[in-house]
Amino acid sequence: PVRLRVAPSPTGDPHVGTAYMSLFNLAFARQQGGQFLLRIEDTDRARFRADSEKQVFDTLHWLGLNWDEGPDIGGPVGPYRQSERLETYAPYVKKLLKSGHAYHCWCSPERLTAMREEQQKNKLPTGYDRLCHGKSEKERRELPGFSENPVVRMFIPDDVDLDFDDLIRGRVSAPRPDDQVILKADGFPTYHLAVVVDDHEMEVTHVVRGEEWISSTPKHLLLYKWLGVDAPKFAHMPLLRNADKSKISKRKNPAARLTWFVEEGYLPEALVNFLALLAYPPAQDAEGNDVEKFTFADFSREFAWSKINPVGPIFDLKKLEWLNGVYIRDLELNDFTSRLLPYLEREGVLSGAPSLGELGRLKDVAALIQTRIALLKEAVPLALPFFVADDQLLIEDDARASLGEDAAQVLDAAIEALSDIDDHLASLVGGTDWNATRLEETLRTTLVDGLGKKARFAFGPLRVAVSGARISPPLFESMEILGKTSTLARLHALRE
Ligand code: ATP
Ligand code: GLU
Repeated sequence: PVRLRVAPSPTGDPHVGTAYMSLFNLAFARQQGGQFLLRIEDTDRARFRADSEKQVFDTLHWLGLNWDEGPDIGGPVGPYRQSERLETYAPYVKKLLKSGHAYHCWCSPERLTAMREEQQKNKLPTGYDRLCHGKSEKERRELPGFSENPVVRMFIPDDVDLDFDDLIRGRVSAPRPDDQVILKADGFPTYHLAVVVDDHEMEVTHVVRGEEWISSTPKHLLLYKWLGVDAPKFAHMPLLRNADKSKISKRKNPAARLTWFVEEGYLPEALVNFLALLAYPPAQDAEGNDVEKFTFADFSREFAWSKINPVGPIFDLKKLEWLNGVYIRDLELNDFTSRLLPYLEREGVLSGAPSLGELGRLKDVAALIQTRIALLKEAVPLALPFFVADDQLLIEDDARASLGEDAAQVLDAAIEALSDIDDHLASLVGGTDWNATRLEETLRTTLVDGLGKKARFAFGPLRVAVSGARISPPLFESMEILGKTSTLARLHALRE
């Protein structure tokens, strides 16, 4: 069976690229009935961030990109955190040293910097000059720029073959690397050694990762060869790009952070769908039209490496927002309602333990706004007026400024007409007279027919009174949800 993995480094907020790589790894693993592993590559202690690993777990779970083996759930080839595997790497380093494919290097950081500057000044190719190669510690100690704690470097011969086959790109050639460090002075392996040893020990069959690793793959293939073990197959995914073709990065794009998508109110299934579409063509329906909305299961079933577009896709947030709106509109009302809860709680619109009454009201509000938002967080200002006390409703400045001279006349007439509507339950089947249809009829008769106002001038002040804003969910439905007492209290409050 195939075994694939994603191997994020816990260096901060998880990158959207980690989800994107996970998705393609997982799609193939599921299609083939194989396994998907999560490995935490935490050997870079300078960039390590303690809370990052949990964010990786949480955001990938949120997206439904779940792993079969990993640091949190264990598995047969663990541990799945590189910092807990340090003794795993030592015998491999020993073997490479013994066979002459690796050597100790005692050059101090200062010497390496000076060497690089000299190479640059003379327009020479940069790279380690092999001062330490073939020398014992004693011999090297005699020379300048010696450091007590050596690193271990690969010895990459000049005539080495650096081409390899990529599942997406076909035959790829990479530039010649210099003698790469595989074991650091602090005793930690570098990425290059750890990734090869771990992929081998974890029996990974396919390495699917970003195209920025293409130049590293020949080094990895050399290590596999020198260690005498089988290499996995490789696929290098196109990196996600801005419209100007630069790669999206956490430093420049908020949307490179996975937690940003949670905060904004994207649906995980919409984001997964979008990430798939970035590098993969949409399916076609019977008439040959693109089907842009699809599930992970559909995607995984049809998945083929040959269909991936190797050109870096533009990360088009407008399209994601559109797709998110489509997904929101397609949700069951109960589902949509419960997805709003965390956003309303976060902004203090609802408490962490809403009452049954509040939940009932929220469902009514949800039905009103479901077709009107593209992001879940947009529900917050729309829902807020339904959960504040009448005397706490804030009237926005632009809403107040929009009131015409006849607002008072309109409000008075509306108050009088609405006061006559009975809000008692007439029968269990019929509901009450205080319903959107009856409210609209009454207010049209009174304000449009009776006072001769245009609808905009008739209903504008009522909307401001009820919601505090110029733009709100539909007015009559809003009044129905608020009920007679609240509606009248708000009309009175604006009148004063
Ligand atoms: P920055 O993106 O600002 O450089 P970072 O240094 O944290 O932030 P990396 O550590 O380079 O990001 O990448 C983290 C993971 O995200 C890697 O697995 C990498 O392959 C992936 N990644 C980074 N940039 C992109 C991108 N533009 N598209 C897809 N994946 C990416
Ligand atoms: N730790 C590396 C990263 O986060 C893994 C790259 C790979 O998949 O080999 O990009």
